[in-house]
Amino acid sequence: MIAKRIPTILPEMTFEESLESTKIHSIAGKLSSDMPLIRTRPFRNPHHTISPISLIGGGRNPKPGEISLSHHGVLFLDELPEFNKNTLEMLRIPLEDKKISISRVNSSITYPSNFMFVASMNPCPCGYYGSTEKACNCREEQIKRYLNKVSGPLLDRIDLHIEVNSVKFDTLNPETPSIDSETIRKRVNLARNIQYERYKEYGFFTNAELPPKLIPKYCKLNDKSKEILNSAFNNFGLSARAYTRILKVARTIADLDGNSNILTKHVAEAILYRSLDRKYWGE
Ligand SMILES: [Zn+2]
Repeated sequence: MIAKRIPTILPEMTFEESLESTKIHSIAGKLSSDMPLIRTRPFRNPHHTISPISLIGGGRNPKPGEISLSHHGVLFLDELPEFNKNTLEMLRIPLEDKKISISRVNSSITYPSNFMFVASMNPCPCGYYGSTEKACNCREEQIKRYLNKVSGPLLDRIDLHIEVNSVKFDTLNPETPSIDSETIRKRVNLARNIQYERYKEYGFFTNAELPPKLIPKYCKLNDKSKEILNSAFNNFGLSARAYTRILKVARTIADLDGNSNILTKHVAEAILYRSLDRKYWGE
């Protein structure tokens, strides 16, 4: 439910983004006459039985895969450990490069794949590990095998890990005040504008695109923050990639907060979102 709503809080598509997505859908033969132009951010959620070619793209006459169909939108993989491990590993390059090259006999073809990657998984095969509702009946090695289906390097490329407890039906009160997507989208747009102004001279527009050489300039930390981050790095066995990703997430949290400096609380929050490193893959 949460994943499906992510496109509704992302900034609206620009005309250029809309054209790019439309082109890809057209090449894939997925444009319908009642939707000649893609105007809303794509949300793709392929089933875990998907083949590598359908996910990444390819074939005799190379067609874009799900990663390109979700360009400028969201690719959601539900029940991540159920996917074929080798298929999942193929996501690593496009997640890094934002594009995918598909080789053919005499040439290669490149499709863009700048998508937001969202995935969900259970804590164990039965789904109740750590639950207060019901006992988990999985054996330890079963849990290990299940979690190991998501590799460390893939996990490394996921910035925000959020643990969600199951919601009891009787707590779903329609009168509970909730924030609507439009309100959240306004905050997102404000943060995006700050980033646009900050980076426009470089030709990129978001913290996610911040190249390593500019990180020291735009992700300055105070001494206390450095201390917290270094201790997280040592205690959880974080990779260098996770380290820079935490810095960028902290930058974004500060932007959402309307703060030009990254404060210690922003770094602490960014570290909290790496809970899976801590739980399953950390030391
Ligand atoms: Zn279990």
